[in-house]
Amino acid sequence: MIGHQRAAGAVVGSAVGDALGAPFEFGPAGTYSARFPLPGSDDEMCGGGGWEAGEATDDTQMAVLVGESLLEHGGLELPDIFARFQRWAVSEPKDIGLQTEDVLTNGMPWNVAAAVHFQVNLRAAGNGSLMRAATSAVYFARNGRQVTMDAARKIAALTHGDSAAWEGTAIFHELVRLALEGDDPLAALPEILTHVDPHHRDRYATVLAPTWHPDDATEFNGAVWPCLGSAVWAVRTTTSYEDAVRMAVDLGGDTDTVAAVTGGLAGAIYGLNAIPTRWTEPLHVPLPGYGGRVLRLPELLDLAHRLAA
Ligand SMILES: [Mg+2]
Repeated sequence: MIGHQRAAGAVVGSAVGDALGAPFEFGPAGTYSARFPLPGSDDEMCGGGGWEAGEATDDTQMAVLVGESLLEHGGLELPDIFARFQRWAVSEPKDIGLQTEDVLTNGMPWNVAAAVHFQVNLRAAGNGSLMRAATSAVYFARNGRQVTMDAARKIAALTHGDSAAWEGTAIFHELVRLALEGDDPLAALPEILTHVDPHHRDRYATVLAPTWHPDDATEFNGAVWPCLGSAVWAVRTTTSYEDAVRMAVDLGGDTDTVAAVTGGLAGAIYGLNAIPTRWTEPLHVPLPGYGGRVLRLPELLDLAHRLAA
């Protein structure tokens, strides 16, 4: 049984993290806490770097596209998700991952575009499929672990040819699924790891271990492993949605995505009511390519509600 408070927490929590982190992208660690030393300031959702206050980025925009495709087709229709991504990608979104943009605009069919990109470039383990996973995690949660993790891998593979990205996205889906059911997702990590592709298991075991710290990362947190590890670390070392997301943004680097992933998981754990209203009030999600649509809190809540129904 999926709690609607938690489902809404996952979808809105991810969007809020994305918007809170966006102005700090590529900055050094500690920038957020230097500007906002104490929680509770009214202007934390500050905008900047081309982003309006409360404006969500590509992470949430793509998550909305995935969620709406799942609802309109009553399930996973991969060519449709890819087509929605393409329509968005050619409509000048303010931000789009380099790899995602290439895969969506190189003219290849949906089922080979990412694989071809990976064959040519060899590196494709960015966090760009992990960042957009909150909506599909909510949608598939009712179907249990295997369906959830398999769906995660397939959606990830639309833009990411490296199976490391599929596995990280699958782990996130399963963490959210367990949280929605009221279980302790972090306590289940050893069990979840047994369902990860053996080729990738050790590397995820490293970044998800209780002793791992974001300073231990061997890549920039735009890569899938430290991004997921940092999100789990932020949730593990805090006791509220707000503190987890603050910690995530304060890590610096790919702040919008690390905070979107953190916020999706923390929102699933603590529920919608744990997300500060001073963060949800200015929240808005433009959808380039879709007739000027902008989703605000009521539309995101409606989406979450239907995904969990
Ligand atoms: Mg982004």
